Amino acid sequence: MTFEELRQAAMGCLACDLANRRTNVVFGEGNPQSPLVLIGEGPGENEDQTGRPFVGRAGQLLDKALAEAGVRREEIYITNTVKCRAADWSTGRPVNRAPLEEEVAACRRWLVPQLGFISPQVILCIGAPSAKNLIKKSFQITKERGKYFPCEYARTAIATLHPAYILRQQSQANDGGFSLLVQDIARAWEAAQRLAEKNPPPRVVEQEGLF
Ligand code: URA
Repeated sequence: MTFEELRQAAMGCLACDLANRRTNVVFGEGNPQSPLVLIGEGPGENEDQTGRPFVGRAGQLLDKALAEAGVRREEIYITNTVKCRAADWSTGRPVNRAPLEEEVAACRRWLVPQLGFISPQVILCIGAPSAKNLIKKSFQITKERGKYFPCEYARTAIATLHPAYILRQQSQANDGGFSLLVQDIARAWEAAQRLAEKNPPPRVVEQEGLF
């Protein structure tokens, strides 16, 4: 199976109930050869509508942080812990919610082989749910952000604050943690490039027997 075949297969996923209400599966985008992968929580309304990760308000803040860190969006790969929008529909109108454990578990069937193809040097987890999924269940974002951890899917992983959280914290007197986001992106990118120079990864062009 190739990376494109994996993406195509994900488009028809029915593995959890998020499939019932989605407009688009948001597989991920960017450079699949990048040494750095950013992994968020899951698509929101704008991402569900467009099929692209991080294009709403949080995405715009992420773009600003990437620019300040000196990283071009096209040179990294961006995806999410779950590939379909998680929302509460009980009031009739969708209200974004964190993905459930079983939704995160179901979506690993796409995330894990996706990371297998990219074989990144560094994973930057954006927010706590991503860090809990990829680093350790007990991850505490305020205490442990910005530190390197071992990770099964990359040489190392690091987590940072989610831009949606930063937007909620920001005020005239407080950047809400934006400077930490910029700093973590810059460190992750620097580490990814340094590691890639030392250990160019064997590129997986096809993976046997995935399905
Ligand atoms: N928040 C996320 O975690 N991911 C997106 O793609 C958009 C917002």
